[in-house]
Amino acid sequence: MSERAHVFPPPMERHYPVVDGRIQTRSLEAHIVDHCNLTCVECCSLSPLLPAWMVQPQALFDDLARVAKVIRPRVFKLVGGEPTLHPDLVALVEGVHRSGIAPAVSVTTNGLHLDRLPDAFWQAVDGLTISLYPRPRLRESAIASIESRARRFGVALNWKVQDHFVRMSRMPPSDDSVETGAIYHDCWLRERCHLIRDGMFYTCTRPAHMHTLHRGRTDFTADGVALHDGASLHDEIHDYLRRDTPLAACFHCHGGRAAMEPHRMMSRAERDAERARFA
Ligand code: SF4
Ligand code: SF4
Repeated sequence: MSERAHVFPPPMERHYPVVDGRIQTRSLEAHIVDHCNLTCVECCSLSPLLPAWMVQPQALFDDLARVAKVIRPRVFKLVGGEPTLHPDLVALVEGVHRSGIAPAVSVTTNGLHLDRLPDAFWQAVDGLTISLYPRPRLRESAIASIESRARRFGVALNWKVQDHFVRMSRMPPSDDSVETGAIYHDCWLRERCHLIRDGMFYTCTRPAHMHTLHRGRTDFTADGVALHDGASLHDEIHDYLRRDTPLAACFHCHGGRAAMEPHRMMSRAERDAERARFA
């Protein structure tokens, strides 16, 4: 098995050239479920703290139809929560291909349920990023089976060893606009984690999940651009991607400056206590 260590921090990519009318980005992603079979502390998607949720396929396809006219990512990623828990995963991968948004579609997973997926999934997907945690550790037999199916169907594998996590969230949030402006300026996630969700485009994944976490009591949707069919969408997103002003979410986030700590799972009691803070 080839291991690819997480590169931290990666180089900035803020050029956003326009080719054939579409803004070129490294990637674009959709988080298709919020729940997960694991409870990693400091999950970037805040999955252990969020209610169970899954995207309706048509809602994702509608967002894709709009954004595909103006953005060309090198890869489109289906992420979660744990995306293999979505019952329509194969249809979602096929729908992303049909949209023409990107030349490749990948799924980011903890790998624990990959053995349940049918051959149709392996035929549809181009790549998998599989997180490897210290516990629960993916069994060697499961890794061998994944590698075998990937070879058979020509799927690229990106094994991501996750012995450490970054402590992304700032709780309580900061009110220091100078520090937050600097965090946003230096943040590599804002160009690597572009997200579409519920009719919005966000430069990173955090605002959408913070909006869910805060149950709408703090509104983070103004951190994104509303998708629409008008001719101005291209310029709205291009200007947004290059803006200097931090997001509201940045006041709740350490971004690329987050400290690393050993990976571990939340206990049920710990998770329930954290959830209760936002109930
Ligand atoms: S496996 Fe991924 S989505 Fe699930 S809790 Fe861990 S980091 Fe979050
Ligand atoms: S919320 Fe701000 S600091 Fe956090 S990842 Fe997004 S852009 Fe970076």
